[in-house]
Amino acid sequence: MRYAETGINLEIDLSRGSIDRVESDPRDTELYLGGLGTNAKILWDRVPPEVEPFSPENLLIFGAGLLCGTPATGCNRTIVTTISPQTKLMAFSMMGGFWAPELKYAGYDKVILRGKSPDLVYIWINNDTVEIRDASHLQGKGATETAENLRQELNEPKAQVAAIGLAGENRVYFASIEQGRSSASRQGIGAVMGDKGVKAVVVRGTGDINIAQPAEYLELCHEVLEYIKFRNQNPIPGVMTILQGLGSPQEMATHDEKWHTENFMWGNSRVRRRDFWTEEVKRAWTETMEGMRTRLISCYNCPMKCGATISPPGHPTYMMKCFSKLTYTMAAMSDLDFGLKIAQHATEYGVDGFSTPQVMAFALELYENGILTDDDMPGMPAESEGRFYWLLDRIVRREGIGDVLANGTYWAAKEIGNGAEAYAHNNIKKHEQLPLKLSMLNPVYFLMYATGEKINITQIEGQFPQAPYPKSEHREAFVKDWFQVPDEKFKQYFLDWEPRGENSNPYYPTVQMSCDIVDWQEKMHYIDDALGMCAGLSSFPLKPPYHIHNYPKFISSGTGIDMDEEKLSQAAKRYRTLVRAINIRRGLRRKDDQPPENHWKKRFPELEEELLDTYYKFKGWNREGIPTKESLHDLELDYVSEDFIQRGILADGDDAPAKEPSAEKVQE
Ligand code: SF4
Repeated sequence: MRYAETGINLEIDLSRGSIDRVESDPRDTELYLGGLGTNAKILWDRVPPEVEPFSPENLLIFGAGLLCGTPATGCNRTIVTTISPQTKLMAFSMMGGFWAPELKYAGYDKVILRGKSPDLVYIWINNDTVEIRDASHLQGKGATETAENLRQELNEPKAQVAAIGLAGENRVYFASIEQGRSSASRQGIGAVMGDKGVKAVVVRGTGDINIAQPAEYLELCHEVLEYIKFRNQNPIPGVMTILQGLGSPQEMATHDEKWHTENFMWGNSRVRRRDFWTEEVKRAWTETMEGMRTRLISCYNCPMKCGATISPPGHPTYMMKCFSKLTYTMAAMSDLDFGLKIAQHATEYGVDGFSTPQVMAFALELYENGILTDDDMPGMPAESEGRFYWLLDRIVRREGIGDVLANGTYWAAKEIGNGAEAYAHNNIKKHEQLPLKLSMLNPVYFLMYATGEKINITQIEGQFPQAPYPKSEHREAFVKDWFQVPDEKFKQYFLDWEPRGENSNPYYPTVQMSCDIVDWQEKMHYIDDALGMCAGLSSFPLKPPYHIHNYPKFISSGTGIDMDEEKLSQAAKRYRTLVRAINIRRGLRRKDDQPPENHWKKRFPELEEELLDTYYKFKGWNREGIPTKESLHDLELDYVSEDFIQRGILADGDDAPAKEPSAEKVQE
């Protein structure tokens, strides 16, 4: 019997119209857990680097996390994996909501799509019955509208629907997959779904999941719930409001946006408005939010209510969470009323709430600087808000300049030329980042930005405070009940961290400490992504209910796999390295491991080199960032080194790169 997982993947070939139920190998679960880990293994095995994102050979994998569908609070993530059209690297974007548990209850751990359907279809998974159905009547429809139509058509109000909007159908490089109160947004995975001709994957499941040791497992779940209650009643003092509690940063509940609006950059990540958040703005924005927010809502089996239904007057109701509340507003230099209204359109179109506003602000900056002209923007309104709606429509339809912008700022700038590349200044590995520009280099964030394979900073950070506490008594109070640390040394790292002087950025945390901190933070995110746990209850907030000490117990009693902290750390390192290996095979090298050039005003080239050198060594990678033969062997990834040697990426018997990496960045 399989515990926690179903042991069955659904393999759907859209070119042939075939559907197969394939039993997965339990040994893979031991080595790679599930979710992201086993998704990465499948992608390594079946999608060689020659496969382009829009090739029928590319896979689109919907993987429910290993513990999804069990009673573990907040365990509801679907990890969607493919090759990204934006970065040409492995994409793994997560969505919360209800879809993953529903898939498990239907009897499957993953849905693996390959090939391409000649006509638009949707997939209907109703427990044992799985069908590929015509979706021509849904062509051009919004993602939320599609979900509603399908639930009615199937007479299944409880079915969970992951759907694309027009952006996905038109292969916009930052198209999302929308689902209930969540979405998988980053790296253009919605474009791959559209390219495969799939409008939606609809799931209804009414089965059960087996737990290896139910009494022990439930006791752990109970402890977590109790701790969540405690943390909700005891916010962490001394940090900004959004970092005090659990969950995603409670953007729907909080009205205090001083920190985001004054510290993040507006427009095309250019302008900091230090005195923006006045009493008057606060009053107006609070009124707007309270006028449009109809209900706070949660994902499956979670009390945190991080999302909300938003009903802008004259617009349909939609669901929102997190920072997309502000991204459109800030890109357009507008107000919350505009942001909440345009986000409704964007959700129906199915686009990434981080990239899209920045792509539009980038286009307007090019226009203001004469690089794009009226000929490129025929009929564009004169005022800022109208321009954003105008651009959004053209991008998702790929009309005129919208066709160029639909490929994201990196590729659009290359195509536009004439100096446009200087305006695509906020990318990492070709992908738009949070609009943040800071002063002093932070060594921990440097490493996360540079080497994070998620290419998305908000999904790498967490656990260790973002900034030092000014007073030592506050630091001492903070570490007192910090039981989540994997090692006591982290407490000392924090105790000695000062805002100014010798023990401050950029030389403190020291290079070695920075490696330790980044490794811990990253490990927790990778564990979450394999188990299907929401980062908002684990890797993202300070002092979370899930941590390295209770996770092995959850895995052991949930799955029956004998797990301890060391084995879990090793498993996470294994599939983290496999993700790196997939990207290395696609050309990723040290020269790609860079934050945006203007992310910090004060840069320290020698220190940055040392940070990368030391971190690579710490991870078991050579100077080019390629995992060495020896480290791959330690992780039972010899098949990766064999492949590397065969391809000339590593030399046999030598951990130096076989040949000089080319001067070009990853697969132009
Ligand atoms: S913490 Fe928030 S985002 Fe996470 S599962 Fe709960 S409701 Fe969803």
